[in-house]
Amino acid sequence: MTRSIIHIDMDAFYAAVEERDNPLLKGKPIVVGGSNPRSRGVVSTASYAARKYGIHSAMPLKQAYLRCPQAIFLPVNMAKYKEASRQIHQIFRQFTRLIEPISLDEAFLDVSGTDAVSVGKEIKHLINNRLRLTASIGVSHNKFLAKLASEWEKPNGFTVIPKDNIEGFLSPLSVRRIWGVGPRTEAQLNEMGIFTIGDLQQLERGFLQKTFGKLGNELYDLCRGIDNRPVKSSRLPKSFGEEETYYTDEGNMAVLEASLAEFSQSLGERLRDKGLLGRTITLKIRYDDFETNTRSMTLMNPIAEPDKLYKCSLLLLQRARLNQRKIRLIGLAVSNFIYPGEPYQLTLW
Ligand SMILES: [Mg+2]
Repeated sequence: MTRSIIHIDMDAFYAAVEERDNPLLKGKPIVVGGSNPRSRGVVSTASYAARKYGIHSAMPLKQAYLRCPQAIFLPVNMAKYKEASRQIHQIFRQFTRLIEPISLDEAFLDVSGTDAVSVGKEIKHLINNRLRLTASIGVSHNKFLAKLASEWEKPNGFTVIPKDNIEGFLSPLSVRRIWGVGPRTEAQLNEMGIFTIGDLQQLERGFLQKTFGKLGNELYDLCRGIDNRPVKSSRLPKSFGEEETYYTDEGNMAVLEASLAEFSQSLGERLRDKGLLGRTITLKIRYDDFETNTRSMTLMNPIAEPDKLYKCSLLLLQRARLNQRKIRLIGLAVSNFIYPGEPYQLTLW
């Protein structure tokens, strides 16, 4: 069966988010990586206006400053980029569950069985509309070609690589365009007189294997546009949990409540990071005699907010009726995950 794969790569993501959130930055050379260009940091992302000066990711900030002293240097605001990434993934999930994130701003989608070109266009449109950001999108029948397509006309690109005449399409391209060919392999190939993918297509599988080992095998397939790697979606976790064993057995309610408040905070953050809501909250208590009890509640309306998690945990703690017993360990877990806006089955009581 022919697969349909989409590769999405946000354009100058961190810089684009900053630019979106501060109109004064529009079109200016922006360097995200640190607010002090004299510090030892490196460039995380440079806006396209900054790239014109030769500034690129992983370059020391000092060097970026030398190339463009008037550039605006900003610290990395990871929480903000994660939030944007979460919203982008929310859009992806409207079309498929087969999503393989490569980084915050890059992912493969397997949309086999759909009209991949319209799905790609719709995703591009939604990202633009809801997030006011641009993505470059590539559509093809495997991961290698989809990624090649998204790089084709960056930024704000949309490229489809169809199935026919793949070898001819690939042959004039530099070997560097092949996934897995870094500067070292490229130099090695160049030394052998291999510069284009077409040159590579002339070599036999056995020879490539002998010279490059496992990579040689891949090169033989990739230069012909053959790539059977699946889109590996990360499975939804079953639950998130936090627990603490006290140094000495604990009977003080204020201490127990403080632990629960701390757990609620970190569980809330983990839910938010993954863009999930939880419906079941479980309290675990181990007494000083090692007897262990769990109590849980399943909510009509799923939650992710730390204060709501905390309220639930206090209710469960009340129901546990400690009766002055001392506690060795306390834990809090959240499970029964759903994505926001997703329909879910109500449990019948
Ligand atoms: Mg990107």
